[in-house]
Amino acid sequence: MNCSSCAAAMESLALPGHAGATVDVDVCRGCHAFWFDPRESLQLAPGSTLRLFSLIGETPKAGRTPLSTRLRCPRCRARLVLTNDLQRSTSFRYWRCPSGHGRFITFFDFLREKNFVRPLSPKQIEELRRNIQSVNCSNCGAPIDVSKESTCAHCGTPLSMLDMKQAETVVAELKRAAEPRPIDPALPLELARARRDVEASFAAETDWWREAGSTGIVEAGFSALMGWLNKSRR
Ligand SMILES: [Zn+2]
Ligand SMILES: [Zn+2]
Ligand SMILES: [Zn+2]
Repeated sequence: MNCSSCAAAMESLALPGHAGATVDVDVCRGCHAFWFDPRESLQLAPGSTLRLFSLIGETPKAGRTPLSTRLRCPRCRARLVLTNDLQRSTSFRYWRCPSGHGRFITFFDFLREKNFVRPLSPKQIEELRRNIQSVNCSNCGAPIDVSKESTCAHCGTPLSMLDMKQAETVVAELKRAAEPRPIDPALPLELARARRDVEASFAAETDWWREAGSTGIVEAGFSALMGWLNKSRR
């Protein structure tokens, strides 16, 4: 299947879903986006969700292809419709086929849909302003002038960071789901420590914004988190 945006062949992943089903997800690493057939995202088993998180964490941020303004359905070629949705209090968006063939969602909006990122608090924005002038949008990659803006002028995404609390929730779900692969019993403790480290570095005078300035705020938290998750799955 070809990407809705850049038309390159997408990579097809067959992931475990709920109740023994297999879910096919297509990914374009160039555009940083997934294609989900109808309801596929909802049917992902927790381990599959985590697998997609890892894939996002491993994909290099450099050289991302800007999204086309005309996204097309990979099945019927119809123009996709931009849709705004809400997951708890987090808004996210995706583009759907008007004939119901599925939807195209960026990595970042997938993370928002799964409650994995949250907007920076006013205090964190203030701190960012004192220290850096510009940061790249974690959704579309466009530069955000931090002194003037707290949302991306290009795509409307607020300055956001990884939500470490949600990372713990996902791992807890994994354990409850009793997947075939054993989970390291030390993991919850490790994750709690990871969360403390990340939150401490955001709260204290440590220069967390320095890495955020070069790679993006969500990305800076992500690389730390992925280290712990990968360690737990060995
Ligand atoms: Zn693409
Ligand atoms: Zn279609
Ligand atoms: Zn943006």
